[in-house]
Amino acid sequence: MLDNRTLTEHRLFIDGEYRPAISGRMFDKVSPATGQVIARVHEAGREDVDLAVRAAKAALKGPWSRMTVAERAGILQCVSQGINDRFEEFLAAEVADTGKPSALARMVDIPRGGANFATFADMIKNLGSEFFETDTPDGGKAINYGVHRPKGVIAVISPWNLPLLLMTWKVGPALALGNTVVVKPSEETPHTTTLLGEVMNDAGVPKGVYNVIHGFGPESAGEMLTQHPLVNGITFTGETTTGEAIMKQAAVGLRDISLELGGKNAAIVFADADLDKAVAGTMQSVFANCGQVCLGTERVYVQRPIFDEFVARLKNGAETMVLGGPAHPDVNMGPLISAEHREKVLSYYELAEQENANVVTGGGAPTFDDARDGGHFVEPTIWTGLPETSRLIREEIFGPCCHIAPFDTEDEVIAMANDNDYGLASAIWTQDISRAHRVAPKIEVGLVWVNSWFLRDLRTAFGGSKKSGIGREGGEHSLEFYSERANICVKL
Ligand code: NAD
Repeated sequence: MLDNRTLTEHRLFIDGEYRPAISGRMFDKVSPATGQVIARVHEAGREDVDLAVRAAKAALKGPWSRMTVAERAGILQCVSQGINDRFEEFLAAEVADTGKPSALARMVDIPRGGANFATFADMIKNLGSEFFETDTPDGGKAINYGVHRPKGVIAVISPWNLPLLLMTWKVGPALALGNTVVVKPSEETPHTTTLLGEVMNDAGVPKGVYNVIHGFGPESAGEMLTQHPLVNGITFTGETTTGEAIMKQAAVGLRDISLELGGKNAAIVFADADLDKAVAGTMQSVFANCGQVCLGTERVYVQRPIFDEFVARLKNGAETMVLGGPAHPDVNMGPLISAEHREKVLSYYELAEQENANVVTGGGAPTFDDARDGGHFVEPTIWTGLPETSRLIREEIFGPCCHIAPFDTEDEVIAMANDNDYGLASAIWTQDISRAHRVAPKIEVGLVWVNSWFLRDLRTAFGGSKKSGIGREGGEHSLEFYSERANICVKL
């Protein structure tokens, strides 16, 4: 246990200032890599949430609303630059909270944090609108054109797996369109969202435009925020069951909602695939971020002629992974986020044994005989031999594991991939270009990669179908959600 005085303290950020919670409550933040308490976090109560939302509401009428698009875009470019200028600080904060390998956060999380502001700062400068010339009943003409105005106060509720990346993916476009935000980051990852307050102030973002409250979900800050009557829109990334709860909360007052939820994503490997690339890509999609990626693969379907070789190669890859905390340069797999999440993942590992799965590799919790034993590590795990009806094939586990099943025909694998309640992402590995184009549109998901995984152009649509979400983010889709469009009709 660390001395209380050495712990970082995360306050709320309201109206441009760091403040202790009026509630007087605090909670511990634990390192996923060691199990030790690393920070104390102020927990917002109802009064704190109300203060934050009212600050955001008031800021809608302040200098933020009077800025030109070029001024707002310029400030957001400064926010992007501010993250890049303090890259190492953001990196240290993110890896301490998540336990993920430093190299991963250096390559993905922190650069995307900056890019999310720069991208939408650029996009609003080119924001166009629809225009129609209309014949009128008196034989004359009218013109119709659309204008965008901000939606208002946006509640941003974000998860712990890619904290800065996913939070700024919402805050970037929301601010670009002139909204104000109250962010409730995951209770597991409060640090980078808090740190961003300093960057906002330094960049000249007016007070009250960006606010941060900390706390939990049900009967805590998350629920209080989404229930607040002055919130105009809710954007949420997290579990499907939480999305359902938030949707009910959003129904009161008819607030608009965007939901990016869970997945049970399939990778499909045809016999004609470039095997080296298919194995390397699948290794990444199954094990990156310790399997805690919404777009990650938990179901792998491999065409029968290459099934045995593929399984052997993936097994070999899994067994050469180095587990450990973020500080070690050789580590390529960190811990799971919390003891609670580890218990959940291990319960699926036990279920696999009860269902007589063939455990190709892993299946348990490692022991190290060092400080890592206090962390939330599990073994990278591969199963074969389960029926498609198994809960392991149907439910999102969100850990470093996958089941591999053989298939024979294109139609068969399309049916297998689609036989699931989720519909977020899929990866297809084949060198037959006709096959790729034939199969990709038939997979009932929001995102399909061919011969790659996680390649993102921020202008493209991002989101899921079925139980994986409602709405799309990215490019013009984000601009649409974070604005209200009004039609102006002028009789000439
Ligand atoms: P979670 O649903 O447990 O929590 C997400 C956030 O919601 C947290 O900030 C939490 O405090 C808050 N919350 C919980 N209950 C709430 C309530 N009733 N009202 C308001 N807020 C509430 O999700 P998580 O465990 O943090 O993240 C993992 C999940 O997120 C996985 O299911 C994963 O697939 C999903 N995810 C989806 C995407 C995507 O883009 N589709 C991206 C990343 C993660």
